Amino acid sequence: MRNTIIKSTEEVVSCSDNGQHPLVYINLKAGSGQCQYCGQKFSKTSKATNEALAA
Ligand SMILES: [Zn+2]
Repeated sequence: MRNTIIKSTEEVVSCSDNGQHPLVYINLKAGSGQCQYCGQKFSKTSKATNEALAA
C-alpha cells in the first residue's frame, strides 16, 4: 500500500505501476484521481503559467 499522492500539473496522467499493470490514463480535471489498478492517487496542482490562455 502506498500513501503518496503524486502531484501533476497535467490534466491527464498515466500509470502503469512500473509495468505491474496495463498502462492507464487518469483524468485529473476534477482535481484528483486514483488508478483503478494499483490505487495510486494523483492530484492536480495549479501552476502560474499561461495555461488559461490555451482554453
Ligand atoms: Zn496504477
